[in-house]
Amino acid sequence: SKASVKGFLKRNLFVLFTIAAVALGIILGFALRPYNLSLREIKYFSFPGELLMRMLKMLVLPLIVSSLITGISSLDSKASGKMGLHAVVYYMVTTVIAVFIGIVIVVIIQPGKGSRDSPMANGGNIEPVQATDAFLDLIRNMFPPNLVEACFIQVSLCFHPTRTSARCCTPYRWVSTSILRYTCNTLITMKKKTTVRIDLCVKCFRPQETVEEVVPVSGSSGGVNALGLVVFSMCFGLVIGNMKQQGQALREFFDCLNEAIMRLVAVIIWYAPVGILFLIAGKIVEMKDLAEVGGQLGMYTVSVIVGLLIHGLFVLPMLYFLVTRKNPYSFIGGLLQALITALGTSSSSATLPITFRCLEENNHVDKRVTRFVLPVGATINMDGTALYEAVAAIFIAQVNGMELNFGQILTISITATAASIGAAGIPQAGLVTMVIVLTSVGLPTEDITLIIAVDWFLDRLRTTTNVLGDSLGAGIVEHLSRKELQNQDAEVRNCVIEEN
Ligand code: ASP
Repeated sequence: SKASVKGFLKRNLFVLFTIAAVALGIILGFALRPYNLSLREIKYFSFPGELLMRMLKMLVLPLIVSSLITGISSLDSKASGKMGLHAVVYYMVTTVIAVFIGIVIVVIIQPGKGSRDSPMANGGNIEPVQATDAFLDLIRNMFPPNLVEACFIQVSLCFHPTRTSARCCTPYRWVSTSILRYTCNTLITMKKKTTVRIDLCVKCFRPQETVEEVVPVSGSSGGVNALGLVVFSMCFGLVIGNMKQQGQALREFFDCLNEAIMRLVAVIIWYAPVGILFLIAGKIVEMKDLAEVGGQLGMYTVSVIVGLLIHGLFVLPMLYFLVTRKNPYSFIGGLLQALITALGTSSSSATLPITFRCLEENNHVDKRVTRFVLPVGATINMDGTALYEAVAAIFIAQVNGMELNFGQILTISITATAASIGAAGIPQAGLVTMVIVLTSVGLPTEDITLIIAVDWFLDRLRTTTNVLGDSLGAGIVEHLSRKELQNQDAEVRNCVIEEN
């Protein structure tokens, strides 16, 4: 009937807008490709998209902090402990499954079999990254020595073709020094083989120098040390939750802050389709000819895509169904806008505000759950990234004709899991943490250059999988913690009655 059509339109207006924006972005992008726009023109053209990224990132810091603090302080310690345990078990189990799927697929498809497509990059003088150092860095990041600083991190690498060394133009703090050094070296090596423009960094641009290539490293996206802030906010939330009457003012403050941020999200959501349109169109105008991607690289891309599809469309929904007995696909339907934003932004952090909204408004997941598990999930739970890291590492082994034994495959699984935890929720962070996986089994890290050309594309798909995993996780944790939540509701009701 007319009323139900109207109701449907009203409920799904944003989703329809967003889908239309993606379609329009693709059409516009392909329509503009023949004009061979310069990098500068593309930058101008994508400006509305850049604005969306900036707005979303602007909200991430207060959102993570306020939601975690209110989420945790509003739960009693038993409930939060149980919920945290469920979440961590879910994150570990799904990440390990994702790695497993990746390994099975890459072993079956064998994308790297045969002779090398491209000659081995000559990285003889590259100092390998020690996996131990990388792990220590991960743990270090959990404890930022300066909280204010943890909110303002900017990492960008400038590449100077005329120099023999790359230079970091802004202070880096939370990305591993060794990884940073490695990335510089790789870029220099890569430059001889291929030219890949990854991003432009206005900050680094000095007219007298010919800065040609700039690569964002973990943290460059507007930079927060999310891991450190998550750990701090959780502890802080626990403490003020236990402070009874004394903590009341702080609890109310963060609750109010959280509410205000969510209202801002509701405003930005109106702009999201426009931003997504230009993000997608800009990327399509900018990308290299897909025809260039053939042979081994093509098969590698297919392997990652197949793995992500199996994990995202089959395994995770099945898990959700097994636990909750509810239809996973209608749950996923409610997430469409977040998933499309992930596809458009390649950043699960930037998508976080939209993920919150989709889960709370469309899927009616309890706020106490989303506030607690979403910020943590967006920071450490990255199924797509883990799967991709495993596929990429084994692909590189195949390309080098290296037979991996069981122990090495196990090492890859473990380090891929760790690398996915360590990767920030920003574009192409997974590419940087790849180094940990490769060095752990003695694979040539400079071979990352083999997969760089398609990484921007795979990044979007794995980010979407990451966001999907976080969201289904919130649904599952809510179901598993329903008893604690009900108990708490009952307690609150009793309190109110007593007070009256
Ligand atoms: N871009 C991904 C994310 O934000 C991380 C990665 O590079 O794999 O989830």
